[in-house]
Order: sequence, then C-alpha cells, then structure tokens
Amino acid sequence: MTPVIITNIECFITRPDRHNLVTVRVTTEHGPVGHGCATFQQRPLAVKTLVDEYLKPLLIGRDASNIEDLWQMMNVNAYWRNGPAMNNAISGVDMALWDIKGQLAGMPLYQLLGGKSRDAIPAYSHASGETLEELFASADKLVAQGYRHIRCQLGFYGGTPSALHAPENPTAGAWFDQHEYMANTVEMFRALREKYGWKLHFLHDVHERLFPQQAVQLAKQLEPYQPYFIEDILPPQQSAWLEQVRQQSCVPLAMGELFNNPAEWHDLIVNRRIDFIRCHISQIGGITPALKLAHLCQAFGVRLAWHGPGDMTPIGVAVNTHLNIHLHNAAIQEFIPRSTTTDGVFPGAPEVKDGFIYPPTAPGIGTGFNEELALAHPVAYRPHEWTQSRLPDGTIHTP
Ligand code: MG
Repeated sequence: MTPVIITNIECFITRPDRHNLVTVRVTTEHGPVGHGCATFQQRPLAVKTLVDEYLKPLLIGRDASNIEDLWQMMNVNAYWRNGPAMNNAISGVDMALWDIKGQLAGMPLYQLLGGKSRDAIPAYSHASGETLEELFASADKLVAQGYRHIRCQLGFYGGTPSALHAPENPTAGAWFDQHEYMANTVEMFRALREKYGWKLHFLHDVHERLFPQQAVQLAKQLEPYQPYFIEDILPPQQSAWLEQVRQQSCVPLAMGELFNNPAEWHDLIVNRRIDFIRCHISQIGGITPALKLAHLCQAFGVRLAWHGPGDMTPIGVAVNTHLNIHLHNAAIQEFIPRSTTTDGVFPGAPEVKDGFIYPPTAPGIGTGFNEELALAHPVAYRPHEWTQSRLPDGTIHTP
C-alpha cells in the first residue's frame, strides 16, 4: 500500500455558539484531508499549542496509514502522559487519521470498524427547571420530539438552594446545599413517576456533588423509581466508595466523563462497580483508545454511554454515533441540540429523529469543517464560575 504522507497539521478554535470548540486538520500529500475533535473548552489554547508546537513537527512526513503506531508514539512522546490537554490534542489527530482512512476506503467510519450492531442508537437529551412545573414542561417538549430517555435536573447541578444559610460576605461561586439537593431529587423522581408512569426512562447527573455516605443514601432512596442511570454520584478520586453504593442499592451507575487515564477506569470495570462508562472520547485520546476501552467493557458487562455535551464539536458527536452504531455494548447517546451557526461550521453532523440517532453515511467521519465560517466566530475566554462550586459554609467542592 502506498504511504499516505502527512504534509500539514493545523488546529482551529472557534466559538459559533456558547462554547469554544477545537478542531484539528491533518493534510496528506496526495490523499484526503481529515478532521478531528480536540475540544477542551476551558483550556483551548493549551491544546492548540500542543498541536502546533509539538505534534505537528513530530508527525509531518510520517505515514498517516499507521494510526496505532502514531497514537502510541504521541502518547509517550512527552514521557509524562494521560492529561486532559495532551489527550485532546492527540484525539484531534487520531480522529483526523481515522477520517482519512475512511475516505481512502470509501467507507463511513462504522463500516470501517466492522459494520453495524444496530439500526440506530437511542438518544437522550436534557430536561431541567427550577420547579417541577418547569421541569415537566421541559420534559414534555422532548417527549413530543420522540425522546423516550430524558435526563432530568431540578435546578443547576447540586440544585439551586432556596434560602442558603451562608457566612457573612460569601465568596463568589456556585453555591449549593447537599441536603436540600438530595431531598429535592428524590421528590423529583417520585413526581416524574407519578406524572409519566413507567414508559419513559429517566436519567440524572449528580455531578460529583455529594460526600461518599450521602451517595450511598441517595442511591438507596432513588432505587424505587428505577432511574436508567445515575451519573457521577461520586468524584473519580472517591470511586473506591462505589463498592459500598453497590452493596446497598441496585440503582444503575454511570461514570467516566472526567477520566483521562486507563488506570482510572480499569478497576471499576473489572470489579463491575459501574453499569455504564461515560468517557469523553477526545478527553481519553480519541477513537483508538475508545475502541480498547469499549472492548474491555464488553468483556465485563459494562455498557457504553459516551459523554456528549454541548462543548464538543459536531465531529465528536459524529464519532460517538459511529462507535455507537458499531459497538455491540453501546447503550445510549447523549444529544444536545445545536445552533444553525454551529451546523454551518460543521456540516453533516447527526441529528435525532424520533428519539434515535443514525450515523453519517459519507466516507470517513462524514462531518465537515468550514474554516472560513469558523474563523468568523472567534474564541472567547471566561472564568467558568460554575466550576467554583461551594458548600453552605463556603468550602469549594468538585463541580
Ligand atoms: Mg455528566
């Protein structure tokens, strides 16, 4: 096979809507051009520097055909590895290389990987409200669009406290009260089942807002309402506590969007402490490591629910869909509606139809990148106050 020589690598940051989105382009000598998602929206310039100053000089002149070798080389080239900035930079290149390979083969990515395991992947989206009435109205809209799986949140992550008893001159941040949040969340699930019965699947994201014993307590209290899954009931550094959660509740647990390193997920999978892995594919380094993680999960009965937030490019959304169509243990795909501006910058990304997502059929990843439109929407930096979450006494907490 003729080598597919890499001639250029570029990194673009654009903000067509709410989030900074990072895209990597790999150009080859005589072959196609590939694009990948490298979005780390809170630190986009760190990713761009890694791509421009380190990966580009490393990869120019090499054969784009050898994705596995190039991924392994990128992963160890800096000696220190498995951090979010570097993993996203590697992902941008890795996805672009798979995009190129698919275009050369004339196959959409899911076909290149081995074909379909299912016709379409069920989608879930987010309903939220400060009150139950607002939440129901939000959920009703999704039901009318065909969704049968809905993530429900009462207030922002950790809930919005009704009357916080705080110290004088409280430090700025996103304050929340764990006790009030837990009580409101149990009541939310009770009210959802009362209103909608058992035909819909409800999901919920704790977003690491609890202490370990509170997590045990919440899981027990939610059990009667049969959530589809409860996400990030604890932060990664407390994941050993999941064993206690498991012993006391059969509520399905999902975790993984914060993971960077295989050491973070290995024990959870082989000891069957979670039901769904939620890794963010660019955050773990792209398609190449995601396939390995998915196959490890399959062996231990863990299903896939890749992270699919608004702060990823539609290229990343398309990659999630290709993997979900191909991988037998894929369960569900998170979907956030996009603006027409975002779809203009990234044409061809998957949409939800009556609660299901179908993969792009064009060769490769099948979602394009319009450089001119992207550059018309420059990056904007903000302090991300929501990540400065605080308990009622002012203690900062995992966001
Ligand atoms: Mg989450």
